[in-house]
Amino acid sequence: MDKLLLHVGPTTIKEDILIAGLENNVGFTSKEFVDAFSYSLKGLRYVMGVSKNYQPFIIPGGGTSAMESVTSLLKNKDKVLVVSNGVFGDRWEQIFKRYPVEVKVLRPSPGSYVTPEEVEEEVQKDNYKMVTLTHVETSTGVREPIKDVAKRIRNKVELIVVDGVSSVGAEEVKAEEWGIDVYLTASQKALGAPAGLGLLVLSPKALEVLNSEESIAGYYLNLRNWLPVMRSTEEGKAMYFSTPPVHVIMQLAEAFRLIEKEGIENRIKRHSVIASAIRTGIEALGLEIVAKRPESYSNTVTGVILKVVEPSKVLSETINEGVEFAPGVHPAFKYFRIGHMGWVTPNDAIVAISVIERTLKRLGEPIRFGEGVKAVQEYLSSAR
Ligand code: PMP
Repeated sequence: MDKLLLHVGPTTIKEDILIAGLENNVGFTSKEFVDAFSYSLKGLRYVMGVSKNYQPFIIPGGGTSAMESVTSLLKNKDKVLVVSNGVFGDRWEQIFKRYPVEVKVLRPSPGSYVTPEEVEEEVQKDNYKMVTLTHVETSTGVREPIKDVAKRIRNKVELIVVDGVSSVGAEEVKAEEWGIDVYLTASQKALGAPAGLGLLVLSPKALEVLNSEESIAGYYLNLRNWLPVMRSTEEGKAMYFSTPPVHVIMQLAEAFRLIEKEGIENRIKRHSVIASAIRTGIEALGLEIVAKRPESYSNTVTGVILKVVEPSKVLSETINEGVEFAPGVHPAFKYFRIGHMGWVTPNDAIVAISVIERTLKRLGEPIRFGEGVKAVQEYLSSAR
């Protein structure tokens, strides 16, 4: 049976994107590759909502390599405030602990988020050089109100860094208008390309800081080493620092072509409708969602709490029904996650709820059987 991948990344990939990686004999100095790389750098500006004032970077790895490359902007003894709503927010702390900087972490109660007021209050207490935020915390599906946080702290810290791994391509992102210095993401999530790339945009201020000789970053993830490659490639001339994953970048370029064809606003709207449809179905079944506050529901991830049945059992059964969901990773909840990002469709929402509904009935989880698919149908029949 063909499988529908409603995971939190990689997600289902369109055939045209897969095929773009099948080109044979493409060297990193070839015109096809340089064109694809250059196109992707411009595409990245488009999904991040930034002008030419911002510098895009596409580096090997993924979300974590993009995160760690942010150390390029730090020097010895800098103070960093990490705003963590879950497992991936905590990853910032794990990274910074490997470097000679001081880290403080703000955390909410599980399933909630640190409010803009709380971030502002903490920022006023100390001399932070950098604040890191996670736009959508993939472990809980909780969205942080980035725009509101930035408004409160923009003039109080030097650098604001946002992990948009589970948001870019599916949530509103206006990095320049909001005054964000680094917005980063990965190829395998809402951009709908294969895994293998970390993507970032840097503000003019971040670029100035990058110029400093005192950075604590190492070699491979030091963005200073990648900067000439990005600049040169965007202008159509290949340059070497380390061999890029040529075929994944060819695939990413195709993903950006399809994103531009859809239009980023339409794409965000599509994600929002599908996310609402899925939540409507889950709630109609009488199940609880991990995200506690409705204003923080995300367009990309929904955590579903189970009272009786083991989540691993649900995941193995639903795969047999043709849909792969993701396990929970936050220790505070007994749950599984539905990833709804990338090339997901409204019909996928029906399939997801239908498969969850019959699997949970079979396994003995108390649900309102018959109400889930009905509610999604009702929602979609009136959603615009
Ligand atoms: N940040 C967030 C919000 C994520 O969801 C993930 C991956 N799930 C990462 C960072 C790390 O990305 P990667 O696995 O590509 O290194």
